[in-house]
Amino acid sequence: MPPVENDSGKKELKSQIQELIDSNQVIVFSKSYCPFCVKVKDLFKELQVECNVVELDLMDNGTSYQEMLLEMTGQKTVPNVFINKKHIGGCDKTLQVSNESQIGWLFLSQLERGENKPRGCQRMMPLSQEAPRSLSSASTDECLFLSSVKHNWDTMKTAVNNYIGSLNWGYRVSLRDKNVNYVNAYAEFVEPHKIKATNKRGKETFYTGAKFVLATGERPRYLGIPGDKEYCITSDDLFSLPYCPGKTLVIGASYVALECGGFLAGLGLDVTVMVRSILLRGFDQDMANRAGEHMEEHGVKFLRKYVPTKIEELEAGTPGRLKVTAKSTETDEIIEGEYNTVLIAVGRDACTDKLGLDMAGVKVNPKNGKIPVNDEEQTNVPHIHAIGDILEGKWELTPVAIQAGKLLARRLYGGSTVKVFTTLDVTRSSGGDITQSGC
Ligand code: NAP
Repeated sequence: MPPVENDSGKKELKSQIQELIDSNQVIVFSKSYCPFCVKVKDLFKELQVECNVVELDLMDNGTSYQEMLLEMTGQKTVPNVFINKKHIGGCDKTLQVSNESQIGWLFLSQLERGENKPRGCQRMMPLSQEAPRSLSSASTDECLFLSSVKHNWDTMKTAVNNYIGSLNWGYRVSLRDKNVNYVNAYAEFVEPHKIKATNKRGKETFYTGAKFVLATGERPRYLGIPGDKEYCITSDDLFSLPYCPGKTLVIGASYVALECGGFLAGLGLDVTVMVRSILLRGFDQDMANRAGEHMEEHGVKFLRKYVPTKIEELEAGTPGRLKVTAKSTETDEIIEGEYNTVLIAVGRDACTDKLGLDMAGVKVNPKNGKIPVNDEEQTNVPHIHAIGDILEGKWELTPVAIQAGKLLARRLYGGSTVKVFTTLDVTRSSGGDITQSGC
């Protein structure tokens, strides 16, 4: 058939294409030899989603179809994908929507409106957590592939790591744009104005500076019981775990523990939280108990008033099988349980012990490794500043640390006098009920 040139022919072609779009849940306008089209078709196959394919190169009027698609969508190339009558785009866009998380396939309409988009680590967990529950309450309009959706740990892990990788990449680019020299190495003071930097290969380089800013953050604490470091994971490891954790015991009852437990249970895993005393110490207890009840209603089990004493491996694997022994905090009772994964979330320690702070004369609270600073984030050594979670008695929140860093740079080098803690200095140590949403 020759290319369509007159107006009525175009009108007819447009309505033919529109009918294809309207009558197929998924339609891919493709070319049989195009590798990007193959990728998209394979993706639907993998997701077990039925898709209708129109191979434009095998049709007489394929070129006219392609031109009309350009007019209708602004996209000239193939694959050109439509789902539930919505134009998705080409290969990259389709993979991106799929990768953003399984829920992206379910609630495309919401994602397109910009709602529910993961904006940071705090958005990722609840989003994934909502997936199975949303399946049962989704309307047909919202739900694209209700019958075929399964959570895929590897897809989620890759999406989370890609997102974090993109953040890190963005920071690296910003540093380069501002002519900041980026050095990837462990730093340790050897003199008050001199540090030794040791890179991954063990190469040592010495740097001197007029001023220093410490921002080393915290790392998860372990329990100090047999088997904890060998067999358990922490929240820092969760999103790089190469396999689905399976039946999981979460040890700890603060917000990191409950967030991780809630998110894993939301994915449909068998989750138990071992609580030493109360849920969410330091938070309003009425709210804390409501959070606990809500989790229980959604299948999370709680072992209250127990502490673990030993973790043993029963079987290696991905995941393997672990035996956990715990004792009651109130009686002599000893209990045992079997899990695939044990996640420890019993607090985090400031990473200050290997910085050689004694060589620089910086004072540290010996009880918790935290560094006291004045309202200018200045340590007891005037040319050494500190920001973030390593500060004694300050807010442990990523946005606060970022703002503190910006304001400190402006004060040190831009003539500014604005301080971060003048308005925010309601310290945690004051005992107030200050709720934090976490990173
Ligand atoms: P946490 O708030 O320090 O609470 C520790 C929890 O573990 C409590 O429930 C505690 O129980 C329990 N626990 C402690 N030792 C235990 C043991 N030996 N056996 C059993 N349970 C034990 O801990 P988290 O939620 O893991 O971490 C919170 C920290 O993460 C914050 O302090 C913050 O520094 C950091 N953080 C920072 C950001 C950020 O944006 N900068 C974001 C997230 C987290 P009890 O109540 O009985 O003591």
